[in-house]
Order: sequence, then C-alpha cells, then structure tokens
Amino acid sequence: MSCLFCKIVSGEIPSTPVYQDELAYAFADINPRAPVHVLVAPKEHIVSIADAGEQHEALLGHLVAVAAGIARAKGLTKGYRLVTNVGDDGGQTVDHLHLHLLGGRPMTWPPG
Ligand code: 5GP
Ligand code: ZN
Repeated sequence: MSCLFCKIVSGEIPSTPVYQDELAYAFADINPRAPVHVLVAPKEHIVSIADAGEQHEALLGHLVAVAAGIARAKGLTKGYRLVTNVGDDGGQTVDHLHLHLLGGRPMTWPPG
C-alpha cells in the first residue's frame, strides 16, 4: 500500500498525533494554514467521500464528531472551518479521505 496517510495511520511515517480511536486518527497538518490545522482521517483507506458507500455513513458521522470534539478540546469557541477536499477540482492532494479542521483565526468565504 503506497498511500501516504495509510503509512501515517500505521506509524510507518511519523506524525504529530492529536487524537485516535479504533476508527479514526487525527494529526497535525505538516503545512498548517491556520493556528489550528488538524487532519482527521479514517484508519480504513477510503479515497474520498465520493468513494464512501452506505456502509461508511456511521464512520463519516464519527469523523465529524471527532473533529468537533477536537475543536472543543482546543477551545475554538469562536468557531472554525471543517472541510474535505474531493478530487482534482476540490483541490485534494492526498487520496485518503480526511477532514481539515482549521481554526484560531477568522476564515474567509468563499474559499479559493
Ligand atoms: P488535501 O490537499 O488532500 O485536502 O490535504 C492534504 C493535506 O495533507 C495538506 O494540507 C498537506 O499539508 C498535508 N500533508 C501532506 N503530506 C503530509 C505529511 O507527510 N504529514 C502531514 N502531517 N501532513 C501532510
Ligand atoms: Zn490510505
């Protein structure tokens, strides 16, 4: 398996852990775009939400809940951005599903 985030999930490539459980691994983005920039990924390899099936619905909900929990733990009381990029037009660069949790500064809209 040559997937970068699978290697991060397995520990083959080091990362800075933020949270983990049996389904999810959250870690610091290597190139943070905000004071808080955490990636929340399923341990299972899924390319993107476009590739997720009905059997993944509970997992997807869990990932969102994990992200919200991290935001709470990090004290992001003024809000934050939760985003997942899908495919080329979405700007996805790593083909293993992940949520970006961005916070600690005001976000702009629309995104680029
Ligand atoms: P995407 O562009 O697919 O939505 O997000 C990929 C994210 O992974 C980017 O924000 C990028 O900075 C981050 N990233 C890429 N390679 C690594 C790495 O080796 N370690 C960590 N922690 N983050 C990475
Ligand atoms: Zn993977």
